[in-house]
Amino acid sequence: MKAYRAAILRFSHEREPRQAAVFEEDGLLVLGPDASGTQVVQAVGPYQELRDRFCGVATEHLPGRIIAPGFVDMHNHFAQIDVIGSPADGLLPWLESHTFPEEQRFSSAEYSARAAPFFIEELLRNGVTTALSFASGRSESVQALFCEAQRRHMRLITGLCLMDRNAPAGVLNRASPDGSRQATEQGLLDSEALLQRWHGKDRLGYALTPRFAPSCSEGQLRGAAELAARHPDVWIQSHVAENTDEIAWARRLFPASRSYLSIYADFGLLRSRAVYAHCIHLDDDDRALMRGAGAAAAVCPTSNLFLGSGFFDYAAADRIGFRYGLASDVGGGTSFSPFHTMLAAYYVGREGQTKQGLSLSPQHLWWQHTAGAASALGLDGQRGRPAVGNLQVGCEADFVILNPQATPLLARRTERADSLDELLFAMIVLGDDRLIERTVISQALLTIPEN
Ligand SMILES: [Zn+2]
Repeated sequence: MKAYRAAILRFSHEREPRQAAVFEEDGLLVLGPDASGTQVVQAVGPYQELRDRFCGVATEHLPGRIIAPGFVDMHNHFAQIDVIGSPADGLLPWLESHTFPEEQRFSSAEYSARAAPFFIEELLRNGVTTALSFASGRSESVQALFCEAQRRHMRLITGLCLMDRNAPAGVLNRASPDGSRQATEQGLLDSEALLQRWHGKDRLGYALTPRFAPSCSEGQLRGAAELAARHPDVWIQSHVAENTDEIAWARRLFPASRSYLSIYADFGLLRSRAVYAHCIHLDDDDRALMRGAGAAAAVCPTSNLFLGSGFFDYAAADRIGFRYGLASDVGGGTSFSPFHTMLAAYYVGREGQTKQGLSLSPQHLWWQHTAGAASALGLDGQRGRPAVGNLQVGCEADFVILNPQATPLLARRTERADSLDELLFAMIVLGDDRLIERTVISQALLTIPEN
C-alpha cells in the first residue's frame, strides 16, 4: 500500500449533478492492490479523518500540490502525430494534402514502432492516462501502438482503421498477399485477428474502427457490424457530422439513409461503447438516436476550431441527453494538453451565433475530460468493469500530480483563487504540460519521470 497526502480533486459517484467535483484541501489518497492485483484506490478523503486508519502506510506528503484523476482522451490519431499543425482549407483538403500521405508511412512496422513510444509518452507527459485512438489502415501500426501501451501499463483502446475506398491505395486496407482476398474482406479479417490478440489483454481494448462512412464500402460497414455483433464488449469508433462538405459527400454515397449519423445506425454500428468523433451538425432526431443507442460523442474542440468545422451544441446535447466527453483529435487537434482542450471547449460552448451560447463551468469542463469521458466509454466501474477517470474507492490508480505554481502567472493567479471554480478555471486557461508535475499509472504504480 502507498498513500499520498495533498489536495485531492475527484467526482462524486452518487451526488447529482455528476459533474460536481469533490475537493479536499488536505486529503489522503490510499492505494493498494485489488483481488486481481491491480492498484486501485483503497480509501480517499480528508487527511484528518483517515490518518489514524492508515498511519502505518508509507505516505508521500505533497504540500501545495493537487492530485486529480488522469485525463481520458476519447479520440486521437496515432498516425497523425507528425501532421499536427498542418493548415488546410477544411477537413477534406487537410486529409488529402497532409493526413493520407503521412498515414501511408505507418504501413511500415519499423516506422510505427519508432513513432509509438513518442506518442504514448506525449500522452502521459500531458497527464492523459486513458485514450481511445485511431491507428492507420495497416496492422503494423496497431501492433506497434498496443505493444508500447502494454509496456507502459497504459489503458488504451485502438483498432485497425477500416477503409476500402476513396483514399490513396497506400492508405487503404491491404488485399491478401496472394491476391485471393480484396481489401474489404482482408481488413475485416485483420481486425478480427487483432481483436482476438489484444482485446482485454492487460489494460488494452479493441475498437472496430471504420474511418468514416465515405471511406468504407457497404460491404465493409456490414462486415464491421457483424464483428461488432459477435464481440459485444469491443468498442466501435468513427467520425460523424464534422464538416458540411463531408456530410454532403456521405449523403451522396448513402442516399437511402435519413442522415449521416443514420448511415451508421442503419448498418448496426450505433450502440453503447460506440464513440463518434465530432457530432457537430446533428439534428434532434440524430441526438435522440445517439441517446437511444447509448452511443457517445467525442467532442474535439481544438480540431473543430483549427479546421473551421463548426461548434458542438452543448445545450442541444444536454436537452436530448446523450453522452459525450472531450478529446484532443491530434493531429487535426492542435494540442495533447487537456488544458488546451478544456479551454477550447469553453470557447465552443460560448459561441452563440450558430447555436445557443453558454458558459460551461470549470467543474463540468474537467468532468468531460475525466469521469464524464470514462463514463461515456463504459469505464466507470458499472457492472464490474474497470473504473478510470476518477479517484473514488475502487478506481484504478491513474492520476496526475498538479503543481499550480508551475509558472509565475499560474502561481500568482491560483494564489488569488478563492473558490474551487476559480482555481480550476485558472488552471484550464493558463495550464499546459508544465502543470503536470507527475503522471502516475496503475498496476505496477509506474511513475512517469517528472517534467
Ligand atoms: Zn479524428
